[in-house]
Amino acid sequence: MKGEISNSMRQSKLFTKTRREAPKDEISKNAELLIRAGFIHKEMAGVYDFLPLGLLVIEKIKNIVREEMDKIGGQEIQMSSLQRKELWERTDRWSDKNVDVWFKSKLNSGGEVGFGWSHEEPITDMMKNYIGSYRDLPIYPYQFQSKLRNELRAKSGIMRGREFLMKDMYSYTTDEKSHQEFYDSVIEAYHRIFEKLGIGDITYLTLASGGAFTQFSHEFQTITESGEDVIYLEREKKIAVNKEVLNDEVLKKEGIERGNLEEVKAAEVGNIFDFKDIKSKELGLYFKDEKGEEKPVHLGSYGIGITRIMGTIAEIFSDDKGLVWPKNISPFDVHLISVGAEKSEAVKTAVDKLYDNLNSKGLTVLYDDRDLRPGEKFADSDLIGIPTRFIISEKTLEQGKIEVKDRETGKVEMLEEEDAVSILGK
Ligand code: ATP
Ligand code: MG
Repeated sequence: MKGEISNSMRQSKLFTKTRREAPKDEISKNAELLIRAGFIHKEMAGVYDFLPLGLLVIEKIKNIVREEMDKIGGQEIQMSSLQRKELWERTDRWSDKNVDVWFKSKLNSGGEVGFGWSHEEPITDMMKNYIGSYRDLPIYPYQFQSKLRNELRAKSGIMRGREFLMKDMYSYTTDEKSHQEFYDSVIEAYHRIFEKLGIGDITYLTLASGGAFTQFSHEFQTITESGEDVIYLEREKKIAVNKEVLNDEVLKKEGIERGNLEEVKAAEVGNIFDFKDIKSKELGLYFKDEKGEEKPVHLGSYGIGITRIMGTIAEIFSDDKGLVWPKNISPFDVHLISVGAEKSEAVKTAVDKLYDNLNSKGLTVLYDDRDLRPGEKFADSDLIGIPTRFIISEKTLEQGKIEVKDRETGKVEMLEEEDAVSILGK
């Protein structure tokens, strides 16, 4: 169709509808907002479907993450969800005692499989096919994948799902030194990602427990009341310590004074781990070094919770009217709304033309072309939360301008088309 590009959309064609009332069975703010605005649908506790608007946000978050992963040498892959029991037995992570979130099932042909809650074991085993010599290293594969976890409590909407989307990257390096260099470059990449997502200033690199292999790991924690973690901030140094590892020894090591710490609630949006050479030894991933000696490969693992980030942002950037998306991950650049187009041919022509113009400039537009009262359109627009709204009505036509409203501040301006477009910052 003329003027239509795949990324813009007429709202009359959008199958989702907004809801005035919050769903009764939903207690988390992020899910409530996202369901009311038509971004997600709840299948059951901790399990959500992503609808057209929701998927657009997910894709934008993924693209920001993907760009940064590619920049530091990542290669995108996609691993399977069904996993071999035998691999996880070798590392002692099959038993429900050691890993309490497994979903497992039996094959009709005999034997058991696990549903991937993480991928260190299968990917490390797979890498035996591609790593033999030091010349093959380093390798940094990553994926976006739905993880399945039998979480005991799933009350935080998409911030804690039983099925959720994660970006997981793995680093295979020859030694501690090259591991450390890459590890540091991931920290930098993660900072850039959170900056682009609009949560850079409230996301802290946080010292946390390291699980079985190392004393500590690093988490990225975003300050929010809806988070499930408690962390201690050292605002000046821009680092934090998770409550679970806070003690005098840690403070000394990090050069932090207890008196400078501030307790806040936070959501863990990313986590980076050093597995050293332990998994490679357990699973048999070795390489030959320059002297021809066999050595175990060094493994690092780097997660980002894609859907948790979406939920966290939905909670933080919202008000009593609905969502307020940061520009970079808004489902559309602009929400174009016609007022009175059903009565005025001039309004209809003008708004159709503006829609075409915006599309031809490469901007993505949600065009509310529905035959509804202005109040209803504006309330829906507030709920959906696209940061900038363009309104065309008889009043704006008389002035030859566009009414531009900022979703966050509520500020309204009458602007020429060119100035209105420049606000979109593209
Ligand atoms: P948590 O302590 O919150 O359970 P985790 O330590 O189990 O997280 P990882 O296994 O390191 O998390 O997973 C990497 C990232 O995936 C986390 O930093 C988080 O952002 C995200 N994540 C983990 N579990 C969930 C979940 N149930 N729902 C949504 N995102 C999750
Ligand atoms: Mg967990």
